[in-house]
Amino acid sequence: MIPDKHIDDLKSRFRGTLISPDHAAYNTVRQVWNGTIDRRPRLIARCTSASDVVEAVRFGREHNLLTAVRGGGHNVAGNAMCDDGLVIDLSMMKAVVVDPQARTARAEGGATWADFDTETQKFGLATTGGLISSTGVAGLTLGGGIGWLMRTHGLASDNLISADVVTASGETLTASESKNADLFWALRGGGGNFGVVTSFEYQLHPVSMVMGGMVIHPVARAAELLRFYRDFARTAPDSVTLLFVFLTGPPAPFLPVELHGKPLVAIAVCGLDISAEGEKAVRALKEFGPPLVDLIGPMPYGVLQGLNDPSAPHGIRSYWKSEYLNELSDGAINALVDGMSRVQSPMSQIHVHQLGGAVARVGPDATAVSHRSAAFVTNVLAMWPESSADAAEIAWTRGVWEAMRPFGAGAYVNFLGEEGEERVRASYGETTHAKLAAIKRRYDPTNFFRLNQNIRPS
Ligand code: FAD
Repeated sequence: MIPDKHIDDLKSRFRGTLISPDHAAYNTVRQVWNGTIDRRPRLIARCTSASDVVEAVRFGREHNLLTAVRGGGHNVAGNAMCDDGLVIDLSMMKAVVVDPQARTARAEGGATWADFDTETQKFGLATTGGLISSTGVAGLTLGGGIGWLMRTHGLASDNLISADVVTASGETLTASESKNADLFWALRGGGGNFGVVTSFEYQLHPVSMVMGGMVIHPVARAAELLRFYRDFARTAPDSVTLLFVFLTGPPAPFLPVELHGKPLVAIAVCGLDISAEGEKAVRALKEFGPPLVDLIGPMPYGVLQGLNDPSAPHGIRSYWKSEYLNELSDGAINALVDGMSRVQSPMSQIHVHQLGGAVARVGPDATAVSHRSAAFVTNVLAMWPESSADAAEIAWTRGVWEAMRPFGAGAYVNFLGEEGEERVRASYGETTHAKLAAIKRRYDPTNFFRLNQNIRPS
């Protein structure tokens, strides 16, 4: 336990809430999205401002506490929580302020994409964000940030204009192209290694109605659909972003009852052009097969952003493995189809995200995001409710990934679990990793921020 007098001392300078294990809210506040994470910190500092974050960082250092930083709390590895240490929790810092004239938005470090989209969509504006609205803007942006708008507008991190950061020494800095440019480079892909970001400033783009939804096919046609997906993705305009999904039919009103509980495959889409030309761009998707169900049509972008939320409820147990693919070869397709045939939990999914477009047009050294030339990134996502199924679900995920791995080009850092240093290196490549390690030495030489996909200071 941390002696009461130290906590009282922090309390006198701290405007948020300090939550110790004896606090009534402790067991609620220590929960994160992934239900397999059950960690018991000594203190959770729920910050309300950058000055609270400064106090919390200084407290962590002074008392030599293992320190975690929580944004949206969505990371599958559970790095937002720790055992026996301090959690700097930003989840009460959710403000998002839009400047519609400049087309920019500032989001505090605990905002989610739901918070962000709600404010920016009031002005018909958006920037690339996550596919599930409860994901934090912080972790997603710091790791790169793929989403529906990326092939036109780049990754979430490509839209970052500046970030306010509390460093390991408790200093507050702004990072942008013109201020602390090395830190700004590292923050765009390097994850939570370099400090606590209290505020993110983003470039916005006009986005209101989109061509969204999915076409759904029987799993028996998975291989055929994946080959079609590969060919369609190659020629699709940048205004179209695609996602192949293997899923089990949810008991949702938009699905005929006979498909509930059935293994299915789908191609989901976001098209930014809803004109006749835009409709033409996705027509082949609607015609191929034909699909069992066609749910593609014009919808508000904000609706598309919340459409998949029921598939990833808070507290579900989860384990993931990801791999970039330079191409979707027949071998990779066979591995995916075989993996689908062995799925256990009806909540588990396999995703193949289409990349390219604006993602690939940013130079490989421009930010810390690697694998920009990959055509796809796959993610095997086991999700299940009962702890008794943990071992079997983890084994399924690993099995599918092992079969995929010969075709892979490295991991996407935001989809990594606790997978060790080699996988972190594989998600950056040697050159980017070495540069990140040098910047880490400058801003966090003692590796105070180490509960993340850790890059040790060189
Ligand atoms: P947290 O768990 O709070 O934090 C993740 C990491 O970031 C931790 O290491 C933490 O210390 C650090 N961190 C958090 N906040 C800060 C901060 N303010 N300053 C400094 N460091 C901080 N990724 C995509 O790219 N696109 C998607 O569409 C997408 N969809 C997802 C859907 C689901 C259901 C889930 C669970 C994840 C998804 N992800 C997606 C992955 C997601 O980007 C990462 O899990 C990301 O780390 C989540 O950010 P967070 O702030 O919610 O997480």
